[in-house]
Amino acid sequence: MTMPDREQATHRKAQGYRWEGVEERPYKDDARALFKSITRQVLFSHPDMHGELRYFELAPGGFSTLERHEHMHAVLILRGGGHCLVGEQVKRIDQPDLITVPAVTWHQFRATAAEPLGFLCMVNAARDRPQLPSPDELARLTSDVKVAAFLNGEPPRG
Ligand code: MN
Repeated sequence: MTMPDREQATHRKAQGYRWEGVEERPYKDDARALFKSITRQVLFSHPDMHGELRYFELAPGGFSTLERHEHMHAVLILRGGGHCLVGEQVKRIDQPDLITVPAVTWHQFRATAAEPLGFLCMVNAARDRPQLPSPDELARLTSDVKVAAFLNGEPPRG
C-alpha cells in the first residue's frame, strides 16, 4: 500500500541571495513603468500551506509598485537597506528590520542607498489583487511633502 503523496524534505542551498532550484522571475508581468529594477523568487509555496514566502530584491534606485490590497504583508529586511512608505509614514529600513503592512494600506519599498535592498515577504497564498492609487488618492498622498519626496525618488534626509 502506498501512502498519499507527501512532500519530500527539501534543502535548497543559497549563494548570494539566489536559492538552488528557485527561479528568479520578473517582479510582475506588467508593461506599465510602475516599478523598477526588482526581481522575485518564490521560496516557499505549497498547496498544504496557507502562506507563501517570497524574496524580492531591488537594485540601487529600484522601487516596488505603490499599491494597496486587502491582504497583509509581513516583511523581513534580509539584505542592505533603503526606505519604505507604509500608510503616510516614510521610514528608513535596515537589515534585519521587520515591517508589517496592514490591510488596505498604501505601501512602496525603495532602494535609496548605493546597495541592493533585499527582503522576505510573507503573504496569504489566497489573496486579492493589488489596487493602484487613483489621481485623487495620489494627490492626497503627495500633499505630505515627505511622502511626495519619497515617491519622487528624491534623496531622503535622515
Ligand atoms: Mn503589496
